[in-house]
Amino acid sequence: MRIVVLSDIHSNLEALDAVLQRARDERVEATYVLGDIVGYGADPNAVVARLGEQPSSVLIAGNHDLAATGRFDTEWFNPVAAEAIAWTESILDPDARAFLTALEPRGDAAEGLLVHGSVVDPAAEYVLNLEVARASFEAAEFGHCFFGHTHLPTLFIDEGGRIDGRALRDGAGVSLESNGGKRFMVNPGSVGQPRDGDPRASMMIYDTADRSAVVHRVPYPIERAAAKIRHAGLPAVLADRLAVGH
Ligand code: ZN
Repeated sequence: MRIVVLSDIHSNLEALDAVLQRARDERVEATYVLGDIVGYGADPNAVVARLGEQPSSVLIAGNHDLAATGRFDTEWFNPVAAEAIAWTESILDPDARAFLTALEPRGDAAEGLLVHGSVVDPAAEYVLNLEVARASFEAAEFGHCFFGHTHLPTLFIDEGGRIDGRALRDGAGVSLESNGGKRFMVNPGSVGQPRDGDPRASMMIYDTADRSAVVHRVPYPIERAAAKIRHAGLPAVLADRLAVGH
């Protein structure tokens, strides 16, 4: 089975539609969504509705989804992010609010553990280095963990207690085969607000037949998404950053 893994969509409908089209082209049969469905972008309701239409999907919440539904204090957010959360809360329709309120920042899927941040702190911790990754590997027994939050396509491997990690580029295929004990934490990057200098939407396709995972970077109409952010009265920096991918 081929699974598309999406994270940090951040209310960017143009980016989401582009990755869902690529997923259909790649004959994907299931969808994992690792949270931060809303926040920053201009289309929270349409993004939630689109995700609700996907068959065989497993979704969890990110810190922005928790904040937009009154479950995470925006005191922890920078002023721009907090302003976007306040705007999102004000515009969420009842269906979208109910959909997001039902999600938690950690979930179990058939092919692995899903967390938004880390296994230690699923809502808010950033897994950006080997030390933090090690703590997550030690915090639960899993073979495969899919995580988001950093907006960086990344792979961490635990091989008998030795932790390794690296960034994943467009088209990079990696093996997630356990081969006698290897364990994996993998981040598909961000659909709606990439931060690794490549402004294209990021997603991952995981094939359970050969345990391969491939990062796909997908072009989308960035200027259309940016124009909606400006038109909504959201902070202009949220529009400007889309074009540079930071
Ligand atoms: Zn995010």
